[in-house]
Amino acid sequence: MNVLNDKVLETLKCPSCFLYMKGPIYVCLSGHSICRSCWMANSCPVCKLALTDTRNFSLETVSTIVYYPCNNVESGCQQCLPIEEIDEHHLICDYRSYACRLSKYCSWEGTRDELKKHYFAKHDNNILIGRECFSLWKQEKPDYTINMIMAFDEMFYVHVKRRNDINYWAVQYIGRSEDVILFCFEVHIFTDQFNDRKLEFSEICHDDVKDDIDDIIDSGFCVAVPLNVLETYTNMEGVVFYKIEIKRA
Ligand SMILES: [Zn+2]
Ligand SMILES: [Zn+2]
Ligand SMILES: [Zn+2]
Ligand SMILES: [Zn+2]
Repeated sequence: MNVLNDKVLETLKCPSCFLYMKGPIYVCLSGHSICRSCWMANSCPVCKLALTDTRNFSLETVSTIVYYPCNNVESGCQQCLPIEEIDEHHLICDYRSYACRLSKYCSWEGTRDELKKHYFAKHDNNILIGRECFSLWKQEKPDYTINMIMAFDEMFYVHVKRRNDINYWAVQYIGRSEDVILFCFEVHIFTDQFNDRKLEFSEICHDDVKDDIDDIIDSGFCVAVPLNVLETYTNMEGVVFYKIEIKRA
């Protein structure tokens, strides 16, 4: 980053919260600029005079020209982007923090390497190991499960969800969004009653940015099998055997 950009960034730091300001930027009676969230306070943090409704449009314009460093700069990210792109980058940044997704009661967050250790230490019941994982589907099972598959030394989430008479399988690659195209997955559904009956699907993986399974299903990029079809694969015990396989695309 160049020196001028650094100097301008310095003037864009809110004197109250020390985060970079972006529009709307407000001023106090004596002219100090302040970010929108700190403007909600009663008085200017610098001179204690009242805050006004007056905006600092010149500084707002400057904020749209300058390049902002990524929030993860301390962790090693060198990326600097204009204000309208930096928030999008934070979602896919290689140095972003990953939240634990295997339990809704767990609030753990950390780097991707730490995430792997966390999963093996705390959620090993939800880990499947190997490219080919055999599993079973039952009508009365919970209508949503999430597990982590370790394959090719990489981590993937596998979601299985029953919604509106359809059963869905979706896979997310945990890592850099640009690497998601390196992988795909297959679902094989079979029955021990008829050797000639099987269903096979091949589908792309998602990145791990979306955290709501319904959004992933709504994107259409997932394996979808109507329940009435799936039920024809159940054995005497009401169980459907299937295999999920992570593949290199
Ligand atoms: Zn502030
Ligand atoms: Zn002031
Ligand atoms: Zn970054
Ligand atoms: Zn956890």
